[in-house]
Amino acid sequence: MDIMYKSTRGGADCVTASQAVLKGLADNGGLFVPETVPKLGVDLAELAGMDYKQTAFTVMKEFLTDYTDEELMGCIEGAYDSKFDIEDITTLREACGAHYMELFHGATIAFKDMALSILPHLLTCAAKKNNVDNKIIILTATSGDTGKAALAGFADVDGTGIIVFYPKDGVSPVQEKQMVTQKGDNTYVVGIKGNFDDAQTGVKNMFNNKELAALMNENGYQFSSANSINIGRLVPQIVYYVYAYGRLVKDGVIKVGDKVNYVVPTGNFGNILAAYYAKEIGIPVGKLICASNENKVLYDFFSTGTYDKNREFILTSSPSMDILISSNLERLIYIISGCDGDKTRAFMNSLVTEGSYTIDSSMKDKLDSFYGGYASEDATAECIKSVYEKTGYVIDTHTAVAASVYGEYIEKTGDNTPCVIASTASPYKFARSVMTAIDKKYDSMTDFELIDELCDISNVKIPQAIEDIRTAPVLHDRVCDAADMQKTVEDILGL
Ligand SMILES: *Cc1c(COP(=O)(O)O)cnc(C)c1O
Repeated sequence: MDIMYKSTRGGADCVTASQAVLKGLADNGGLFVPETVPKLGVDLAELAGMDYKQTAFTVMKEFLTDYTDEELMGCIEGAYDSKFDIEDITTLREACGAHYMELFHGATIAFKDMALSILPHLLTCAAKKNNVDNKIIILTATSGDTGKAALAGFADVDGTGIIVFYPKDGVSPVQEKQMVTQKGDNTYVVGIKGNFDDAQTGVKNMFNNKELAALMNENGYQFSSANSINIGRLVPQIVYYVYAYGRLVKDGVIKVGDKVNYVVPTGNFGNILAAYYAKEIGIPVGKLICASNENKVLYDFFSTGTYDKNREFILTSSPSMDILISSNLERLIYIISGCDGDKTRAFMNSLVTEGSYTIDSSMKDKLDSFYGGYASEDATAECIKSVYEKTGYVIDTHTAVAASVYGEYIEKTGDNTPCVIASTASPYKFARSVMTAIDKKYDSMTDFELIDELCDISNVKIPQAIEDIRTAPVLHDRVCDAADMQKTVEDILGL
């Protein structure tokens, strides 16, 4: 059966998967959602025998139905290759009673590589299938990790260009250095004076600007998105939750049919939404544990039913989760509203005008597979230290937010269902926060001294992504006000 994609904000938009990948965002500002959620085409028992690429094919073909098997295999082969530093692409590591799913073995050492290494393939294939001649300009807002992963994925890809906006003072030193040293004739990196929400709002406004779209078209350009609003990001992220289930069966941790819990450190709600879809397509999931940092807008939402972004934006040690407007929550709101586009649009309008909205109790009842928690900065640091001291395993700050929330969840509920924690970044990416959590004495060292020290205490080889930036020259130094993002894009494209 062909799966078509509709907008969360209603309307007649009904497009194929490849068209949804190309467009990124629906014309009425909504996000594309599959009209029906497919089921896995194989028995759960078979998952244990599949490698990552086979799992990817099995999952993605159910969602991306207008891609042929050959096209899809081509995309998968092009994505999951030696860009990853382990053959399995991701691996599970047990520590302190949880299974850490290491999603950071790709080129830019954060989980964004899992989807952004395949998105350029899905997109260029979609352009061919739909006879698009325009050059596709990937417009991306990043809280630190998406930017580099998207740049790496799209650099020098024919028929594309990529412009990344990041909060100038809101990313880690390694994250910034990774981005501003990006090579490629078609790559542009811009720091904005503002936070991630400003960057994301600016990008969404450009997507929704019909005049700009017309001007772009006249000049042979069109926009697409590498953010998790694009289903071409979301679908590849479902794969690793399915794969992890198969691994746990294979390793004898669970029997086929047993439930697992997933804990996901959350910002834009894309990664955990993929876990939700994994449940919907048939993976036996107990709880989806949504872990926030001190920007705990999602924790408050799950506890009260009110989403309220009217609060101080806090810069934390887990910057990729410093977000107050979690875009992908819109998809969940749409689902729990009974796929009511009008209702979803009203909530999203209220979010723009009031900064908040409240769901009714019947919608709230449908959230019972989720558990929301958050970790303070102190709890996050404490968790890094304690996991390291107990096991020798060093986790990054984002993963530590998840691990801390999981610890609190166990204490509260006593739920001993086997648990997978999404480990979203290499500790090398956040070396200063990680090392000073382990011991304050490290604070006096330089960033690269810390990296060498981290290598010593963790016995984990320094990833190539870090070696690459030690000496790489800065190639991008554009900075603009949040209000001038569109002007900057026009300037870059010569419109
Ligand atoms: C992007 C990111 C997150 C948050 O993921 P969302 O899909 O935005 O919820 C968490 N950790 C790291 C390291 C990230 O890069």
